[in-house]
Amino acid sequence: MQRDHDVVIAGAGLVGAALGIGLAQVGLRVAVCERGAAPTGLASDPRGLALNLRSTEILDTLGVWESLAPQVCPVRHIHVTQQGHFGALRLSQEDLHLPVLGHVCPADRLQAVMLERLMASPRVQLFWNTEIRASHAYDDYAHVTLRAANASANLAGEAGELSLTTALLVAADGTESTLRAQCGITATRHDYDQTAIVCNVDVARPASETAFERFTTEGPMALLPLGGRRYVMVRAARAAQVSALMALSDADYLADAQRRFGYRLGALSRAGARRAWPLLGLRAARRVARRCLLLGNAATTVHPNGAQGLNLGLRDVAEAVTLLGNAVSCGEDPGEERLLARFAAARDGDHARIFRLTDAMARGFSLELPAAAALRSLGLLVADRLPIFKRQALQTLVLGGKSSPLSVVETPA
Ligand SMILES: Cc1cc2nc3c(=O)[nH]c(=O)nc-3n(C[C@H](O)[C@H](O)[C@H](O)COP(=O)(O)OP(=O)(O)OC[C@H]3O[C@@H](n4cnc5c(N)ncnc54)[C@H](O)[C@@H]3O)c2cc1C
Repeated sequence: MQRDHDVVIAGAGLVGAALGIGLAQVGLRVAVCERGAAPTGLASDPRGLALNLRSTEILDTLGVWESLAPQVCPVRHIHVTQQGHFGALRLSQEDLHLPVLGHVCPADRLQAVMLERLMASPRVQLFWNTEIRASHAYDDYAHVTLRAANASANLAGEAGELSLTTALLVAADGTESTLRAQCGITATRHDYDQTAIVCNVDVARPASETAFERFTTEGPMALLPLGGRRYVMVRAARAAQVSALMALSDADYLADAQRRFGYRLGALSRAGARRAWPLLGLRAARRVARRCLLLGNAATTVHPNGAQGLNLGLRDVAEAVTLLGNAVSCGEDPGEERLLARFAAARDGDHARIFRLTDAMARGFSLELPAAAALRSLGLLVADRLPIFKRQALQTLVLGGKSSPLSVVETPA
């Protein structure tokens, strides 16, 4: 049958946008349906997203890395410690004989570059302020009804609704995915009772191209370099403390952060606006349903302690673009059941591994027993002296599970 699109994607977040760009590049006709409004400038997002080398390679293939490269900061060393206890784990680019471990990219810039590229893709039709009201999958197509998510939507169809047919639906609509629920896929939630508070700060003594992670009993804290003296400071706090922390003056907030992080980078100053993200782990029971794929946070949402969520989602994108692009170029149906099963088989292990790793870190480093703190210190000390552990940790965190270095790593001067 004649379908309006090859793929309809719910959600134009970083994963949905990356997928739309990639599928259009390999010749698919794509519709993207986004609940939010079209961007009118940079989003107010103070996060710096740590992108590993596999993600850099994927963004390069999507044609967005060139525009991002001047705005990112390379990371060559990672330093992990625990508040109030001995032991440190130092990971370095030399452990893997790589020029760089990854890059920190301002989230607002990444989003702007991706959406600009998506909007410029001739094979992509974008619907802003819109959501999928209903979806039905049949033997050889899926049917969706789009409706206005708010008064600004301008859908041409009757009663503010629009019907589309497609070979495949993709849920990239985040942790609370409605398309996932419409497709009958259940999900397990893990509430970490933590909220990440993020702001940008200056430090008095920057450590060149080094990212810091410090575990405290209230949750992890990270300082990620943005270049020069500017860092992104992420601190996890117990949910009950968040409103008090958000209400602190900048000076009091910095003093509290300094107490937890110490003076390794000198005095903290010039705090930017704070934003809070409640932290939740989520695993969908399945990654595929009839004529539907789940990608990114809609499939697996992880604690940000290992900076892995977007990196995982971009690997989903790379796999989906390769599989669906090959299918269409061979005249096959991109929503066909066997193809979707191959996608799930290719991606299940990666999702399980990253979820286990981040979940174990989130739980293991928040135990408040004195014995647990001593064991953690010992673990950091031992790990620091084990090259094999370091290589394995770096292969997961930096190479996205690959065992050999990747091709394209363009580091800004
Ligand atoms: C504090 C913090 C720090 C992080 N740091 C890192 C890091 O350093 N490195 C890393 O790799 N990852 C990091 N992550 C994780 C990363 O941000 C996410 O994994 C990634 O953004 C997920 O993208 P997504 O597109 O799947 O989902 P989302 O970003 O949630 O996007 C979903 C999109 O779908 C839209 N939507 C929702 N519902 C509907 C609907 N019904 N219909 C249509 N559209 C809908 C939303 O408006 C949104 O645009 C961090 C996360 C947090 C919270």
